[in-house]
Amino acid sequence: MKKISLLGATGSIGIQTLDVIASHPNEFNLVSMSFGSNVKSGIDIIKKFKPKFVAVKDKDTYSLLIDTFGSGDITFHYGQDGLIEAAVFDDVDILVNAVVGSVGLVPTLKAIEHGITIALANKETLVTAGHIVMELANQYNVPILPVDSEHSAIYQCLQGEDTKAIDKLIITASGGSFRDKTRDELKGVTVEQALNHPNWSMGAKITIDSATMMNKGLEVIEAHWLFQMPYEKIEVLLHKESIIHSMVQFEDYSVIAQLGTPDMRVPIQYALSYPNRLPIHNGNRLNLSEIGLLHFEQMDFDRFRSLYLAFESGKSGGTMPTVLNASNEVAVAAFLKGQISFLKIDEIIEKALDSHANITHPTLEQIQEVDKLTRTYVQSLIS
Ligand code: NAD
Ligand code: MG
Repeated sequence: MKKISLLGATGSIGIQTLDVIASHPNEFNLVSMSFGSNVKSGIDIIKKFKPKFVAVKDKDTYSLLIDTFGSGDITFHYGQDGLIEAAVFDDVDILVNAVVGSVGLVPTLKAIEHGITIALANKETLVTAGHIVMELANQYNVPILPVDSEHSAIYQCLQGEDTKAIDKLIITASGGSFRDKTRDELKGVTVEQALNHPNWSMGAKITIDSATMMNKGLEVIEAHWLFQMPYEKIEVLLHKESIIHSMVQFEDYSVIAQLGTPDMRVPIQYALSYPNRLPIHNGNRLNLSEIGLLHFEQMDFDRFRSLYLAFESGKSGGTMPTVLNASNEVAVAAFLKGQISFLKIDEIIEKALDSHANITHPTLEQIQEVDKLTRTYVQSLIS
């Protein structure tokens, strides 16, 4: 029985993680969890899964939970301290990090120091401080198991392979909500249109990231760190069906791909059950004869400016990816609130990157400082 801590339990990945846990009650046990402020959903989850520890974002939500559950078997906490405590509670076996944004960084680092295996959905963590996370994981000999479907695919393709024989990683991209629009046609798009992803149902931030293609950019940086791969060996390929979740080409030009119907529970479950596999509850088998055709297209870096910016920041390294991520988080939040237009997102990120003096080997404190300063700067651009 693996003891699990889940950060971001009420989110898209969180709910699907709970589905995996519930469908394998002899394998997994949820002992600790956190969520932001979705109290109704949070209370339902607590009643169903009976975790021993629950952390929430703010004090009001915390007080509400104390009123509901009393001070009985469950320990409640809130804020950043709560998030960290939830991550490492009772020395769980696996931390599923499914919060959104770089707020997930410190809990990940603390869990690594406790020797807890990380199942990582929160890609912003690796983007903002990849070298620190990977160094620490190495030092503590802690596996970082990818939950993101592309990275899970690559991880699966690499089982039993020598990573030195990799020629390149091929990350597939569905293209998001606006894949058939030209840049000119993106001028007046609305929040509702951007939130309408053709293949995946996900949280709001990542759905916008998919529409700008920043999601793929973040995934390229994530892949660089997870698989220690130079950016020259990472390629992005448009594949609108989302059936091939990613591929690895080896030095003999043999290509291994991982396929399946789009279902995030598969990579989540693989991370939880690794190195074993388990049956998937209510899944859909892939039927290739029904699908018939799969399409592939080269990526257009002019059309998807965010992807270009992500590659460039990744190659520069240092604090550039921190700035990329923080400016994107603030810009996307502003777009979702209707404060800026869709095309302003890229523009703002580029401005933030241009005005930043890179720190090449930043400490955690420097990363946190740059993250904060970038958020303030971008906020000032918006208002
Ligand atoms: P979401 O917005 O649906 O859920 C986020 C969760 O984090 C919620 O439970 C929310 O309450 C919680 N949260 C937010 N801020 C918090 C805070 N300060 N303290 C505590 N909890 C907080 O997001 P999602 O789509 O599930 O994505 C989560 C992460 O997984 C993101 O990094 C995303 O890029 C990544 N990811 C998601 C998918 C997907 O299919 N949804 C796929 C791959 C990767
Ligand atoms: Mg992905």
